[in-house]
Formats: sequence, C-alpha cells, structure tokens
Amino acid sequence: QASNEAQSRGWHLYLVGGGVRDLLLTEANQPLLLQDIDLVVDGFHRATDDGAGLELASKIQQMYPQARLSVHGEFQTAALLWHKDPTLGNLWIDIATARTEFYPYPAANPEVEASSIRQDLYRRDFTINALAVRLTSPKKGEFSRKGDLLDFFGGLLDLRSRQIRVLHPNSFIEDPTRIYRAVRFAVRLGFTIESQTEEYIRYAIASGVYERLRLENQQAPALTTRLRTELKYILQAEYWKPALQLLADLEALRCLHQDLILTNQLWWQIRCVSRWLKIIDPENNFDHWLIRLEVLIAHLNPSERIKVATNLQLPKDSLQRLKKLEQIETEVIEKLPHYQRKSEIYLLLRQYKYVSLILLSVRTSKSIRRTIWQYLTRLAKVEPLLNGNDLKNLGYQPGPIYKQILDNLLIATLDGKIHSYTEAEAFIQ
Ligand code: ATP
Repeated sequence: QASNEAQSRGWHLYLVGGGVRDLLLTEANQPLLLQDIDLVVDGFHRATDDGAGLELASKIQQMYPQARLSVHGEFQTAALLWHKDPTLGNLWIDIATARTEFYPYPAANPEVEASSIRQDLYRRDFTINALAVRLTSPKKGEFSRKGDLLDFFGGLLDLRSRQIRVLHPNSFIEDPTRIYRAVRFAVRLGFTIESQTEEYIRYAIASGVYERLRLENQQAPALTTRLRTELKYILQAEYWKPALQLLADLEALRCLHQDLILTNQLWWQIRCVSRWLKIIDPENNFDHWLIRLEVLIAHLNPSERIKVATNLQLPKDSLQRLKKLEQIETEVIEKLPHYQRKSEIYLLLRQYKYVSLILLSVRTSKSIRRTIWQYLTRLAKVEPLLNGNDLKNLGYQPGPIYKQILDNLLIATLDGKIHSYTEAEAFIQ
C-alpha cells in the first residue's frame, strides 16, 4: 500500500538498510521475520515534497488506525508502530524522505536536507547496510524495475565475502558509534572488519578526537544516547564476550575514556561479575549489561568514573553505585577481615546494595570475595525464626520493640545459637 501511495504521487519508494541485508542473507527456504522495516521515498520535484515520508506514513496510518504514528520532524522521518502479539513482537515501519547529512564538526549531530536515494545511501554506515530494493514501478523512460536491487557501493559483494566495509574514510571521525556498530555486526553476523576499514577505526581512535570532544564537553546528547544504546546492544547480547574482546583489540573502549583498556584483570573481573549475576539473579531483575558497563567504568580512577557515567547519561542508580564504590571499598576492606562471627559480617554488609557488593567483590582479595559471596548466597537469606504475628501471640505489644527483638533473634540464628521455634521462644523470654 505504501508503494501504491508513493506510485500514485509519482514518487519512488525503497526498502533500505538492515531489512535488505537480512533478506539477502536469508536462505531461500528459511523464514524471515522483519520487525524493523526502513523505507525511503525520493523522486519528488516540488520543494514541499520534502515531507514525503511523513505524508506516506500518515496515509498508511489512516488505513490502519491501530498503528501509532510518531514523527521526528528535524530528520523528516515518520515511524509507524504496530503492537503485535507477544510471540511475534512489535512491528516498526520507518518512512523517511531521502536525505543527505552534513556534520558541522566531528561527532556532531548531523544536519539534514532532502536529497536522492543515492545520497541517502551514501550517508549510511557500511556497504552491507547501504543497499536498497525498489518497491515502486519505474516511470516512463526509466531503466530500473520494481524489485531491483540498488547497490552503488559494492554491498552485495561484501555480503558474499562477509566483510564490514565503511563507505568513506571520515566515517568514524564523524560518528564514533559506527565503531561499535562495526563490531556488533561483525560478531553477530560472523563477518570480518575489512582491513582498510579497520585502519580507519584505529586512526580515528588514535587521533584522540573523542577524548577531546569529551573533555570539551561537546558530545551532543543525541550522540551519547546513541553510544549508550550501542553499548547496551553489545553488552546484553549473548555474543557480548567476543564483541567486547574485539572492541578491546581495536582499543575502542578509549571512545569512552582515554585510559580504558581491557587488561587481563578487567577481563577477569567482568566475566566473574557476569557469572555471579547469573547465579544470584537468574531472572534478570538487575540490568546485567549495565552492571558490566559499571565494571568497566569502575576500572577508572574514582574521579573519572562519574564523569564518564554522567557523560553516558547512565541511570541514577548506576551513578550512585559508582559514586559510593570507593567509600564502600574502604569500609569493607578495613573492617571485614576483622570480623569472625556471621552476625558481624551480616550487619556490616547488609548496609550495602547487592549490586554494589558484586561490583566491589571483584576488586578485593580472594578471602574478602569469599566472604561477600557467603553473605550474598547464604547469610542475606537467613530469616529470624519468629515473625511479628508470633510476637503478638506471645503477648508483645506491637511497636518499635518488634524490630529489636527480631534483629536479636536473627543475630542469634546467624551465630548458630538457636535452631528451632522453641529455642527462639525461650531466647526472647
Ligand atoms: P539491526 O538488525 O541491528 O536493527 P539495522 O541495520 O536495521 O540492524 P538500525 O540501527 O536499525 O540497524 O539502523 C537502520 C539503518 O540505518 C542501518 O542499516 C544503516 O543503514 C543506518 N544507520 C544506523 N545507524 C547509523 C549510523 N550511526 N551511521 C550511519 N548509518 C546508520
């Protein structure tokens, strides 16, 4: 229907980006479920047609009122969202007017203007993502056909030779998120980063451009949001380990901070934290990807941690954890080795959140780590043998005394002084 609408206005409509890539990578007899469809319109003549994408999206939305329409005016794109059933997930269709982007300075938010499909594809990240399939029939005198593949930059060849190739040398200077995208696609698709592209990445990182921008506080909020999104994609994917290693090989963690290098120790810490999280939080109540990112950031000097976390606009919880880590570390390292009784360990560690303790554990000695593990897996789960109702039945008047009695009971239970309800009753009498 979108192509009919475009056709009737004399416009061209194309399927572009990841959808074309995935279509071409899918074997003929394999099913492909596209959830994110990117369409681009061009071929208009009147200046007012630069809102062509929006016009098409509005038309489609009138036909399918259940779809939600949202518009990103400055980029002339409109998105339609269908909430589908839980197994199929949502369906997103983005309809954009073909555009060219200008970067006023490195890593800036691009300025855009309407243009042709070729220019639109040229602004994209990699050849394999710069392919398009024409969805409208040609006008009289035009050579192309409906269903034609537009491949201006050798994307098809790169798909066949399984390579990630950038479109122009300045690409990574313009937008560092492309480094993370290159790694993500390479690992996810089992491709290699083409050698010249790898050189461009290394050059961009070595040039120190990102660090300068960070220090000058010039990173546009939209860029840091995109950088965080890419980090999230990578750190939450099942292939996060090889992806992180590839990022480290490219020294790409230095986009976050000049000093961030994946040392053997840091690599061990991040895997150890992930193992602990798997055991302690099998239902993923915590954001595991975010905690992995915190481990990376915690590797920096305490004064730098907050700067990086703020720059990435991490949530309040994360900022708090990173801010307090140094203090908790000092307290725990100073006190814990002197504590023998389980209740002492419990009372010290219960002041801190689980995630803070997990972050801390990999930064301490083996014996402290063992004690923290004992606390997280056993001590923190111990409950007093009586509860408020029992106290009431035993004739205690409800009030602040309850907390004190239950705490004393818990301490006695932890230290192995009571083992049964009767012993507990006797203990409080
Ligand atoms: P995925 O399957 O991971 O969603 P995708 O290719 O669809 O992959 P999107 O992030 O949805 O990825 O981006 C859609 C398209 O927009 C890409 O295929 C690419 O052409 C273009 N694109 C996205 N991010 C950038 C970027 N930072 N620089 C240039 N082009 C980009």
